[in-house]
Amino acid sequence: MNLDELQVPAWHYEAACNGHDSSFWFADRASGGEAQALLNEGRRICLTCPVLRECLEAAMAAEGCLPHNMRAGIWGGLSGAERWALYRRRVNAERAAREAEKAAAGGA
Ligand code: SF4
Repeated sequence: MNLDELQVPAWHYEAACNGHDSSFWFADRASGGEAQALLNEGRRICLTCPVLRECLEAAMAAEGCLPHNMRAGIWGGLSGAERWALYRRRVNAERAAREAEKAAAGGA
């Protein structure tokens, strides 16, 4: 099987993390200073990435479906806890917007 058969999104070929040690994706599973060093390295690479937005949106699209133990490592420059917090903020903002729309239309 080659990469074309794996349905890798086109943007991934431009990812700054291509060719890097992937251990920073799983930094949450390391401990203490090692975990922080891996997270910092992941963030450093992500900040140079031309497809950071695409990566983050792909991660956010999956966020609501992920079990807690899958929320590891850096995607789109954010840690698992940061992605979950962003997801919750977005969900709450969408809910508030829907309720405001309903209220403006005279609904309950
Ligand atoms: S934003 Fe970070 S994790 Fe995502 S593709 Fe770019 S370098 Fe990789």
